[in-house]
Amino acid sequence: MIIAIDGPAASGKGTLGKRLAHHYGYRHLDTGVIYRAVAKALLDGGYDLTDEARAVAAAKELDPEKFSHPELKSQRIGDAASVVSAIASVREALVNFQRQFAADPPGAVLDGRDIGTVICPNAEVKIFVVADPQVRAHRRTLEARARGEEADEALVLADILKRDERDRNRAAAPLKAAADAHILDNSHLDIEGGVRAAIAIIEAVRAGR
Ligand code: C5P
Repeated sequence: MIIAIDGPAASGKGTLGKRLAHHYGYRHLDTGVIYRAVAKALLDGGYDLTDEARAVAAAKELDPEKFSHPELKSQRIGDAASVVSAIASVREALVNFQRQFAADPPGAVLDGRDIGTVICPNAEVKIFVVADPQVRAHRRTLEARARGEEADEALVLADILKRDERDRNRAAAPLKAAADAHILDNSHLDIEGGVRAAIAIIEAVRAGR
């Protein structure tokens, strides 16, 4: 089974997808990390984020072993990821890796922005996670501070709104719910509540309800 988790709040930094994968014994891929790794490669090399040839080359040379690099979680890299992820040829270069990951047994949970619409349109379960931007800003601020980064909640909110706008309005795989996605609003849920709500959706789909 493939479970697609998308949406602006899909990544309570990968936590929901990771927890679901653990629950079902599946593998988990936080696809945001892939775009973050491409962005980091460009920044580290001193290249422009809109340098298409360099970005595609970086996408083709990605090393999944480096996906756990702590710097990938930073606000700066997230913002840069939103710029490189708008380049259609960069997205194309990353499609096969994601589809292969999804297809390998025993099953997978992928989270991102375009899993249910582009990468795995045939996923058995699609969940589109949304949350009030103010709530997301508060959560991201706490996460950043926990990592030892400085974070001003008003600036974090502005960044979230800017990034959502860019993700929603890009021509290549814009952020939107698939027609058959189940919307999960976790504004008023903690992580446990979000996991329970997602499992309830998955079980209902499996039972054909
Ligand atoms: O989810 P995360 O914050 O790690 O994603 C960083 C950026 O990568 C997003 O703002 C989005 O622009 C891009 N992204 C994407 N498609 C995905 C996952 C992430 O375009 N499947």
